[in-house]
Amino acid sequence: MAQLLDGRALAKDIKAGLSAQVARLHKEFAQVPRMVNIMIGNDDGSCAYANSQKKVAQAIGIEYELVNLPLDITQEHLSAEISRFNADPQVNGIMLHKPVPEHIDYNSIANLVQIEKDLEGINVANIGKMLLGETTIIPCTPQAVMEHIKSTGVDIRGKEAVIVGASGIVGKPLSILLVEQYVTVTVCHIATSEAGRLEEHVRRADILVVAVGRARLIPGLWIKEGAIVIDVGINRVESGIVGDVDFDAAKERAAYITPVPGGVGPVTVCMLMKNAVEAFKLQNIKRRDA
Ligand code: NDP
Repeated sequence: MAQLLDGRALAKDIKAGLSAQVARLHKEFAQVPRMVNIMIGNDDGSCAYANSQKKVAQAIGIEYELVNLPLDITQEHLSAEISRFNADPQVNGIMLHKPVPEHIDYNSIANLVQIEKDLEGINVANIGKMLLGETTIIPCTPQAVMEHIKSTGVDIRGKEAVIVGASGIVGKPLSILLVEQYVTVTVCHIATSEAGRLEEHVRRADILVVAVGRARLIPGLWIKEGAIVIDVGINRVESGIVGDVDFDAAKERAAYITPVPGGVGPVTVCMLMKNAVEAFKLQNIKRRDA
């Protein structure tokens, strides 16, 4: 029976570490990190998520501002808002809440965010730096997955990892972080499934990470005995929220497994806050040493 990787407990430890860091930074710079979350529209789901982010930020000592913009905002107006926050020395980090309306080109807006204020680590400059191991600002969900893997205490060097899902915010950046730790990585995507080869890859995973968004895509029988299973997926079904892995069956074979909810999600929010602290350090230490 697998050991549960409790995201809420891990998040609590990470928050304690970040609070201590923020207190030290406050002592040195007489300032705390300040982040803005730019949200277009105000649907209930997004507001609830922003509220929970705000609570976590405040618990750590990070100043959090929610900037709510109208759904009919133009690309030009949104770009001007980003430029305003880029130029404001009191703002250390910027995130753009998803989803954005269809008429907004998300990637080009994300790339306008100053690289040292890019809290989600997703602009092209930060992705490039991550590839070269030259930045501490790394996409939040892949970092959360790495924290969960680290929390097992298992030596992962030389192990086989299989990532199912190859998006730009989860699967692809995660593959880089795992390779950096000398893990052998296979990334599966829709074509792997279409070719009927998903099962054979999943079956040899010492570390399995699934980030697709399809309820119970991975049957428990596919899990290698003793594997570390990290389920990133979030799917709303009749019984509530479930992941991409058939949890009940998988936990009988895995050594470690994340639940959904309460696994990757709470740690991802902490990684956003960690990036806010890193952004603050990049900006203030640079100013101090200039
Ligand atoms: P995307 O839709 O951007 O990417 C999904 C990936 O899965 C794509 O690479 C897609 O391939 C692949 N895929 C789709 N169907 C299959 C299949 N049948 N077999 C194998 N691969 C498949 O999603 P995200 O990466 O944004 O998110 C993935 C899931 O993770 C979602 O449920 C999301 O809600 C959740 N999530 C959770 C977070 C957390 O903090 N817990 C944070 C971020 C996301 P292709 O592109 O070729 O179609």
